[in-house]
Amino acid sequence: MFDTLSDRLSGIFDKITGRGALSEKDVSEALREVRRALLEADVALEVVRAFTEKVRERAVGAEVVRSVKPGQMVVKIVHDQLVEMLGEEASEINLHAAPPVAIMMVGLQGSGKTTSTAKIAKRLSEREKKKVLMASLDTRRPAAQEQLKVLGEQIGVATLPIIEGQGPVDIAKRAQNAARLGGYDVVMLDTAGRTHIDEPLMIEMEEVKRATNPHEILLVADALTGQDAVNVARSFNERCAVTGIVLTRIDGDGRGGAALSMRAVTGKPIKLIGTGEKIDAVEAFHPSRIADRILGMGDIVSLVEKASEQIDQEKALKTAQKMKKGEFDLEDFAEQLRQMEKIGGMSGIMSMMPGIGKMKKQVAAAGIDDSVVKRQLAIISSMTRQERQKPAVMNASRKKRVAAGSGVEVQDVNKLLKMHRQMSDMMKKLGRNKKMAGLFGG
Ligand code: GDP
Repeated sequence: MFDTLSDRLSGIFDKITGRGALSEKDVSEALREVRRALLEADVALEVVRAFTEKVRERAVGAEVVRSVKPGQMVVKIVHDQLVEMLGEEASEINLHAAPPVAIMMVGLQGSGKTTSTAKIAKRLSEREKKKVLMASLDTRRPAAQEQLKVLGEQIGVATLPIIEGQGPVDIAKRAQNAARLGGYDVVMLDTAGRTHIDEPLMIEMEEVKRATNPHEILLVADALTGQDAVNVARSFNERCAVTGIVLTRIDGDGRGGAALSMRAVTGKPIKLIGTGEKIDAVEAFHPSRIADRILGMGDIVSLVEKASEQIDQEKALKTAQKMKKGEFDLEDFAEQLRQMEKIGGMSGIMSMMPGIGKMKKQVAAAGIDDSVVKRQLAIISSMTRQERQKPAVMNASRKKRVAAGSGVEVQDVNKLLKMHRQMSDMMKKLGRNKKMAGLFGG
């Protein structure tokens, strides 16, 4: 069995028997392990530092809920922070522009640029039914243009005819013209690479960018680049403001560190990952899978899911107990709304609760449906803490401020407050009713 980060963290925290908030000392000990694991996963040092600081902020003082071990709790915090830093959503290539949409591919030589160009062209033509034209702007490596042509023939995607002696900018312009005239949806520009970052390369990138104004500029980077990943990503991003990253050779990398480094340094999303030499070997990027890889264990997903389930359950229990005492404030209300969103919205929760028909009518009368839950949450988050805990302080000027802050009308704020009042009254009544009290964890 590997000595994984998760194992190590659990090891540290399972020694702690007490419950309550995580102390500075517990967290520091854990962070040493996190740091070590990230460096082993080849995450760049500066990124490791920023990451551990974020985890520290989140973890110190975090309450360890019952039924979740402190070790699990920290693993979850680390996991969540990883996912957040890797970029929460898988974001694909953006084609929202007038055709032909230009996609410029940049990166070092050998990073997998040409292969990725063909992979993406195939993906766009097969999945999105786009008509794609590929052009190689690499006039330095003698066989580069030929390589792309061969790949194009293999996958049935057109390539720009090669004209000897033409420079990169002219080829790029010719490609755009040909794409326009030929009714193509997408034109992919595969630029030349170098073995390392140098000035002539950067100038060439800038010139091509200026001449073609590409909609996407994708940095192709090798996942095995290790510590150097940050320098590559930073240089390309500074000089030509990339719009996204394609990370290749994930198949040869068990560690996933480069993904975190590149994302953290550029702030740009990882759009696709290359998972092999075959032209089909390209996939959408899933932050949580890379996070699992960095944390180093297969069943981390279920562990984290279990922990968050228990955390949710405990929150719900706490809210239920507060409700019974009639202490249901707007923070609890917001929590309820968030939970509802998770389990399928207002209609979902209503359909699951027996004997709640009366409330359903009130909810309907208050004009709440799934589409306004988000707005309700926005209103609550525009309030101060005091206002959330003591909604009674909400006077006209506060309402006006909150409405402006959340982009709604004052009457929407009133509606929310009324809804909360009705709910908390009803909760109080339910709390006094012995049978119903059972339902709320009493
Ligand atoms: P370029 O110089 O950046 O255009 O790189 P190429 O596209 O020519 O790729 C260099 C080598 O890397 C080729 O042998 C590719 O087959 C290989 N390659 C590219 N992407 C991947 C990948 O995701 N996984 C693996 N294992 N090999 C890849």
